[in-house]
Amino acid sequence: MSKAKVVILGAGYAGLRALKSLQNKRLDVEITLVNKNDYHYESTYLHEVASGAHEPERITYKIMDVVDTKQTTFIQDTVVVVNKDEKTVQLEKNGAIPFDYLIFALGFESESFGIKGVDEFGLPMVDIPTSVAVDKHLREQFAKYNETKDESYLSVVVCGAGFTSIEYLGELTLQMPKLVKQYNVPADKIQLICIEAMPTLLPMFDAKLSEYGINKLKERGVKFLIGTPIKELKADSVIYEEAGELKSVKAKTIVWTTGVRGSSIVAASGFEQRRNRVMVENDLTAPGYPDIFIIGDCSAVMDNATNRPYPPTAQIALKQGIAAADNLESKLKGTAIKPFTFSALGTVCSIGNTEAIGEVMGHNLKGYPASVMKKVIGDRSLMQTGGMKIVAKKGRFDFYR
Ligand SMILES: Cc1cc2nc3c(=O)[nH]c(=O)nc-3n(C[C@H](O)[C@H](O)[C@H](O)COP(=O)(O)OP(=O)(O)OC[C@H]3O[C@@H](n4cnc5c(N)ncnc54)[C@H](O)[C@@H]3O)c2cc1C
Repeated sequence: MSKAKVVILGAGYAGLRALKSLQNKRLDVEITLVNKNDYHYESTYLHEVASGAHEPERITYKIMDVVDTKQTTFIQDTVVVVNKDEKTVQLEKNGAIPFDYLIFALGFESESFGIKGVDEFGLPMVDIPTSVAVDKHLREQFAKYNETKDESYLSVVVCGAGFTSIEYLGELTLQMPKLVKQYNVPADKIQLICIEAMPTLLPMFDAKLSEYGINKLKERGVKFLIGTPIKELKADSVIYEEAGELKSVKAKTIVWTTGVRGSSIVAASGFEQRRNRVMVENDLTAPGYPDIFIIGDCSAVMDNATNRPYPPTAQIALKQGIAAADNLESKLKGTAIKPFTFSALGTVCSIGNTEAIGEVMGHNLKGYPASVMKKVIGDRSLMQTGGMKIVAKKGRFDFYR
């Protein structure tokens, strides 16, 4: 009898952790991992690349560093669609590949919410190329200021005030003095504006903690407009609504970090979904498809305490990777599956390299201790998937990095 074919789509947090767990089990299966790049990137640090604080190499490593070639074949290709009834995956270059079990972990995309001008003028931060593009764009605008003296080249609008926006602003404000010097631009003419539709900032934290973090950013020159939904992006301005009136702010750099949805391959493959997230069964499979696991940002798992799905995070993606591997093993061996359960260990939001705010296992943290905690969490996850060699190679033991 031929070996069962297990195909994993996506080498992000969820997919790579599932691969690592499966390989550790040494099952008698053929594993194929598909990913569009030959490297893994730690999405939780994309803001560090987008702000120019670190080169992409700092947050990436080779997928082959995790692949055990005795058990797994890696195919570098782009997934086009999953033919879920035929049990094949259509790849851009390599055609259709069959599977007996599929782990679908293609991650997230930027969400435009249908707002006019977002696709043309908003700069998302969803992978390495888009994050590099944010940094490059801002530098080009600063360079153009000196040719034109048009102050809108020095104006940056960050759309949304969720985690990604706040972490980006935290890092960017620390990079600003270097940028001012490098491009010889007047610091007092730089505008950093963050526009948010909701009336409160960082509502997931205790009010005092959020205030601490937001005040840090205000001290570094960020202006917040809150309760002001964005209505349209134009080439050099953002239109928003304030107290029922449309207003606009000039900016040549418009960073679009209002939120994410799952991969569009979810909808293209005909799964029942909302914003490309599938409400999975308790074993993490797609409803009606017991051999297809959907994990990470493409999945939704209900949090019974809030009656809403858990927010998509690396934390839940990693746990799902392990749980999908366990349940796949149970299905192969005909033993009972374990329903997936999740309880978040906490959340830490960086406000720039050595500053952060967070709530970890019921304790509020702020300042340098919170930033160390953030790095410890990231390093632990890197070590569990990539191994000690990669942690050391990336210089990740330095808490002032
Ligand atoms: C700036 C930022 C900060 C964040 N901070 C935190 C944090 O502090 N804590 C936390 O828990 N979460 C954080 N998150 C959220 C977290 O990064 C995501 O929830 C997590 O990356 C989801 O993991 P995933 O494996 O589902 O997807 P991803 O990590 O996005 O991986 C998906 C993989 O699939 C590949 N892929 C996509 N499409 C295709 C295709 N068509 N064909 C082939 N390959 C494809 C991608 O290249 C990628 O390798 C942050 C996110 C951002 C952007």
